[in-house]
Amino acid sequence: MLEVSNLHVFYGTIHALKGISLHVDRGEIVTLVGSNGAGKSTTLLSIAGILKPEKESRICFEGAEITGLPSARIVKNRIVLSPEGREVFPGMGVEQNLMLGAYTCKKKAKIKENLDKVYTLFPRLKERRSQTAGTLSGGEQQMLAIGRALMSDPELLMLDEPSMGLAPNLVKMIFELIVRINKMGTTIFLIEQNANMALKIADRAYVLETGKIKLEGNAKELLTNDEVRKAYLGV
Ligand code: ATP
Repeated sequence: MLEVSNLHVFYGTIHALKGISLHVDRGEIVTLVGSNGAGKSTTLLSIAGILKPEKESRICFEGAEITGLPSARIVKNRIVLSPEGREVFPGMGVEQNLMLGAYTCKKKAKIKENLDKVYTLFPRLKERRSQTAGTLSGGEQQMLAIGRALMSDPELLMLDEPSMGLAPNLVKMIFELIVRINKMGTTIFLIEQNANMALKIADRAYVLETGKIKLEGNAKELLTNDEVRKAYLGV
């Protein structure tokens, strides 16, 4: 479904991604784990069309090249990025935030169907549909960020550190929701520092270290890999 090959990205003179290659197949949950500054967000932002990769990089979706396309075109291709939770629009209401996610969709019936789907997944957001987003708790803001991404009806949902800053019970809930979203038919590419939780729900995983893929494979196998356990699981 998604095929990234030889992805190079610079910030000025900083070589943030040094030729990474990865793929995500339809129906999978794939995670990219790594410590601070490894290049995880840079990878997502490049796929989403927000950062421009170097010319030798190639990103393909469903067999068509999408490298360097503007972000609105990427969303139209139904690849949608859910940013870290604090990036909701704080002064706007919950439902207004959700409706922003539907900007590529012109059909009212489809928008209503997606909104119902989001409210079924997140009853808390339905209860708070008129509340200002900035007054939601951290966990609720994270739900809102994911809900807004789902309003664009993604085939591939990319999640940027959905567990960031959340209490352990909320982290568990968010990861359970990711599994539910996947079971409803959305392919997931998940970026996480919380390697333990991410590897538990993922089918396959990549470990990124200073801009290079260091390890890749079956997520459950990586959970028991000594190198991964020492470096990312603290055991
Ligand atoms: P974290 O988990 O801390 O968010 P990350 O794995 O997502 O880290 P990136 O944000 O992709 O890492 O950053 C990769 C590298 O690129 C880091 O060394 C970072 O300092 C650098 N970098 C990121 N954004 C910029 C920027 N706008 N300008 C300059 N350097 C940047």
